[in-house]
Amino acid sequence: MENKSVFEMILAGEIDSDKIYEDEQIFAIHDINPVAKVHILIIPKKKIPTINDLLESDKNLIGSMFICAKNLAKEFGIDQTGYRLLFNTNADAMQTVFHIHLHLIGGEKLKNI
Ligand code: AMP
Repeated sequence: MENKSVFEMILAGEIDSDKIYEDEQIFAIHDINPVAKVHILIIPKKKIPTINDLLESDKNLIGSMFICAKNLAKEFGIDQTGYRLLFNTNADAMQTVFHIHLHLIGGEKLKNI
C-alpha cells in the first residue's frame, strides 16, 4: 500500500496540527518550517501528488484554493503589503511532500525569485 503523506496523516488526525481553515474540500495550516513571518499551506483533501496530476475536473478545487489563499492573506493582514503564492513541482523545485499544497508566504519583504 502506498505510504500516506504527512498531510494525509494530519487530515486523519494522526499528527497534531493547528488548522487555521477547513471546509469540505480543503484545509490550511501554518508551515512547520516557515520561510517568512507568514507561511501558510493550503491543501486539498483529495490526494493529488503533483500539479502534473491535475485533471480538468480539479478546476474548481484549484480555484477554491486560491480564494482561500486570498481570504487568509486578508485575515493575516498581508493582503496590502504583499505575498507570494506558489506550488513546487518535483525535484528541481524541491517538492518534498507529494500531495499538492499552495504556499502563502508574506509578512515581510521577500527576496526576488
Ligand atoms: P514542498 O517543499 O513544496 O513540498 O513543501 C512542503 C512543506 O511542508 C515544507 O515547507 C515543510 O516545512 C512543510 N511541512 C512538512 N511537514 C509539516 C507538518 N507536519 N506541518 C506543517 N508543515 C509541514
